[in-house]
Amino acid sequence: MTEIIKSELIYKTIKNLVLLANTRLPKEDYTALSEFYQKEKNPSSKIAMSQILQNAKIAYDEKRPLCQDTGFVTVFINMGQNISVVGGNLEKTINRAVADAYTEFSLRKSIVDDSLFKRKNTKNNTPVLIHTDIVEGSEMEIIVSTKGGGCENISAGKMLTLAHGIEGVKDFILDTVKNAGSKPCPPIKVGIGIGSNFEGSAILSKKALFTDKKSKGEYKKLEAELLKEINKLKIGAMGLGGKSTCFGVKILSAPCHIASLPVAISISCHSSRHASATISGNNVVYKKEDYEFFVPPKTESNVIKINANDTEKIRNLPVGANIELSGKIYTARDAAHKRFDELLMNGKELPFELKDAIIFYAGPCPAAKGEAIGPIGPTTSARMDKFTPLMYKNGMLASIGKGERSQDVIAFIRAFKGKYFTMTGGVASLMKSCVKSAKVIAYPELGAEAVYELEVENLPLIVKY
Ligand code: SF4
Repeated sequence: MTEIIKSELIYKTIKNLVLLANTRLPKEDYTALSEFYQKEKNPSSKIAMSQILQNAKIAYDEKRPLCQDTGFVTVFINMGQNISVVGGNLEKTINRAVADAYTEFSLRKSIVDDSLFKRKNTKNNTPVLIHTDIVEGSEMEIIVSTKGGGCENISAGKMLTLAHGIEGVKDFILDTVKNAGSKPCPPIKVGIGIGSNFEGSAILSKKALFTDKKSKGEYKKLEAELLKEINKLKIGAMGLGGKSTCFGVKILSAPCHIASLPVAISISCHSSRHASATISGNNVVYKKEDYEFFVPPKTESNVIKINANDTEKIRNLPVGANIELSGKIYTARDAAHKRFDELLMNGKELPFELKDAIIFYAGPCPAAKGEAIGPIGPTTSARMDKFTPLMYKNGMLASIGKGERSQDVIAFIRAFKGKYFTMTGGVASLMKSCVKSAKVIAYPELGAEAVYELEVENLPLIVKY
């Protein structure tokens, strides 16, 4: 018998799932992160873990995103073969629901229409990528997953062969995680797809990030072995060292061609965002993820409070110091840096005084009612490396971001007595309270990538270089 599901019900369900995925960590992941916090001995990593847990509670309570990068949305559907969807085209319904959710819930829109040339923001975070599997029965399971650029950019795939064997698979996974370092905002979760073909292994690796399936036998053993080896790398939370590197490894496997051994790895940051529901007829059942939040106690640390005006004091800050920065700073990320570069190369001025300025590599969410700014946090600094030397050369005092810098940039920072500060990534609902005022001062057409002037109070940072 055919089961009718109305497209309007799918629309409502997807909208709810977008909000849930962006604001609530899944139970299994939250539990693993809490355990990491309890066990972590490295003081800097412990502070980062504490911020991650505080952020999870604020995001859940305020229904605001865990991370400012509210990601690229992928919808996975397990569609019962007896279902007929009525009232509208399924693909259009899903895209409409995501577009409306990103606007209504003030989430950041991060999708550009043409990847290589125009790169114009679509302003509603669509199109969505949809993967559909036809399964037996009359139910429709929907999983909404959203993933930011920091961890997606370092996911990888490789076509190995029988000759590479198990050792080849292990080396590929461990090398990928090692090279990723702090870029994907560790602690990370690792999804691995083994088998199928080129694109099939990549989809398996994505599904491995949220599957409830328990591995058995040799695959279970391999998961445990990889988890142990990855944690031995001691990357630690946000690359600060310690034991909190990876809180889960899951493998999904499939048959493959006799000539191939496809392997793909999807790395998820600590902000592992997905939510699911099952629709049958007029009923929707959301997957239960209830848990008690753990509020970490306040950590006593030697924090240096500093104002953005104290140029000389900032230049003399010791590497490794924890600071709390107050005063005026500017946001700018990829697209704005490209424009700055063109201006400086042509001897023109930037839209603000660059001398002694502090630039925060950030693209916030739109502000909701009562917020000075929406959730905000650092993006991967390495993407700005190409443009950074010229910025320091022209007077920039300091930059704020996440992750390592190139040797070139480090040399320029030292030569021009500048500074580079890092900040915990993916704790954007916590960090927004440090922003007391915000105004767009340039490039509003870039949306999240516009240049903001911010007045911040006690923004927690670490002096990296
Ligand atoms: S937590 Fe880090 S890697 Fe994940 S989406 Fe946010 S900024 Fe990107």
